[in-house]
Amino acid sequence: MRVTANPHIAILEPYPLADSGRGEAEPPLSLAQNESFAGPSPKAQAAARAALEEARLYADPDWRDLRRAIAAVHDIPAEQILCAGGSMDLIAALALAYLGPDRRALAGSYGYLFFRNATNLAGAAIDLAPERDFALDLEALLAAVRPDTRVVFVADPGNPTGTYRGRAWLLRLRAALPSSVLLVVDQAYGEFADAPGEAVFDLVEQGNTVVLRTFSKAYGLAGLRSGWGLFPPEVAREVGKLLTAGNPAAPCQAAATAAMEDQAYLRAVVAETGRRRDAFAARLRTLGFEVPESRTNFVLIVFRSPAAAAEADAALRAAGIVLRTMGGYGLPHCLRATIGPEDAMETVLHILESLSVKAREA
Ligand SMILES: *Cc1c(COP(=O)(O)O)cnc(C)c1O
Repeated sequence: MRVTANPHIAILEPYPLADSGRGEAEPPLSLAQNESFAGPSPKAQAAARAALEEARLYADPDWRDLRRAIAAVHDIPAEQILCAGGSMDLIAALALAYLGPDRRALAGSYGYLFFRNATNLAGAAIDLAPERDFALDLEALLAAVRPDTRVVFVADPGNPTGTYRGRAWLLRLRAALPSSVLLVVDQAYGEFADAPGEAVFDLVEQGNTVVLRTFSKAYGLAGLRSGWGLFPPEVAREVGKLLTAGNPAAPCQAAATAAMEDQAYLRAVVAETGRRRDAFAARLRTLGFEVPESRTNFVLIVFRSPAAAAEADAALRAAGIVLRTMGGYGLPHCLRATIGPEDAMETVLHILESLSVKAREA
């Protein structure tokens, strides 16, 4: 007799992570995972180091310091915040709590791939509504709602598109969705789009909306992962049952708390990222590439064909740079480029330019 997993797990493929090339003799530079070029605040690094002294103790299961720091910055109630070792854990817990064989999920067609995996983990199916011009489409999403739809996942700003819909659009979506549908707004890149009057945390007061954020992207703490979200109290109660106590680990909680308290550092990183991103996108457009307007730390580069994207990917790899291929998202003619070190972005531009000159002459 062999051991067998539950059928709904056994049929799943492992979640496809970006190829980081880490196993290779000369590891390439990864611009594939939207990691920060700047890294975390020096204060966050010092806090993580100090936390090592107390590593024999379990981390605070109530995340008191971390929640207090988040609540103060975003002016939201600390009691309604849940933390986890990455917001992916919160997405998975939401799926397990609210989806199942007779409860469907809904997302945009280019929606973050993990929405699909988390849904399948819960033994549920997901519907994908078409997007338009690489952005979520309100009418298409609403048209795809079915009587058994229980969760709608939207990332805003979106990954891998980078496009941003914003507060007014999310308010319209929430108002038009049945109140029995849980709306999960994943703002993993929210810090890059934050502007006065744009926050959507007040949507949570309606009782059927969750807003998720992470320290892995703008805060530069992907290697000391912490994610968090603002939940309606009843939803927090259910999701909390699925989280293991003592995560994130103590150095992660300490780093995240100090990072949240260092908003000056965050603002500087966000401003510098935006400057580099917009300059990179503008030069790509001069080379003839379509690049959707991004409010994140990456851009989606649209090639004229899947073959052209594959050729660029191969040329970049040969030069030691890995972008994210997009076949898994149904966008095989695109590559996603994280905004990284300036010399690497120059190399990307030079390689893409020489390929486009070659293509024009052919
Ligand atoms: C990176 C990312 C996350 C998750 O990040 P964690 O490291 O798990 O906190 C969630 N959603 C989107 C859209 C992302 O790009």
